[in-house]
This record gives sequence, structure tokens and C-alpha cells, in this order.
Amino acid sequence: MRHCNSVFSASDIWFLLDRDDCTKRKLYIANCPICNKEMALYSCVDANGEYFEKYYYSFGAKKVKERLKKDVTSTMLGFKTKYKMPSGFKYGENKEIKKNGKIIAIEQYSCDFWGNKILVKKIENG
Ligand SMILES: [Zn+2]
Repeated sequence: MRHCNSVFSASDIWFLLDRDDCTKRKLYIANCPICNKEMALYSCVDANGEYFEKYYYSFGAKKVKERLKKDVTSTMLGFKTKYKMPSGFKYGENKEIKKNGKIIAIEQYSCDFWGNKILVKKIENG
């Protein structure tokens, strides 16, 4: 996730029920480590196979969490604490691409717990 010119990992990821017009719905949750703003990043793949993402901040982040709470099927933190592995469970992974100690790009992977990885998106930094 990104804010204040920095890139950081989500503190939790919510995995959401599919809908007819969008699948792979996720909500990434974090507080910016620089300004401590509450943030949420919603991502999904729409009916045309297009990846979509949208950031929400502060009150907007609270609202989107409230709205999507009912669609949560599992969470990253829930996985970590319960060590459960529902079938087909997937999670997102961000890989920082560094050059001379500076992050030049972020690669976002969709992963499962059998070690399969698919590059979903590459974000150039700056
Ligand atoms: Zn910030």
C-alpha cells in the first residue's frame, strides 16, 4: 500500500465473497506508518477481467470496512492465528523491486498456499 511517498504492507487483508460482476475481491487494511492515517485498499477483478483498485482514507476507510464486513470469508490475520487452510484460499503478496537501495517498482502477486504465484500487477514507483 502507498501513502506519504512510502510503500508498506497491509496489516490485514480481508478476502471477500465473489459477486457476479467482480471476483477476487479483497480489502487491504493498514495505517500509514508515516502519518498514521487509517487506510483501506479495495481490489477486485471485474467481469471483463480488468483489475480494479481503489483507496479509501480515514472516515472513508471506516465506512468501506463497515460496508464489506458482511462479505468477509476469511482474513490474513485470521489465517495466521488459526492456521486454517480453506481450499482455494489465496492471498496477495507484494514484492519490492529495489535498485541501489531504492524501491523502483512493486510487483503484486496472487498466491496460494501450494506455492503457486501469479503476477497480477506491476506498479512503477515514481
Ligand atoms: Zn501517510
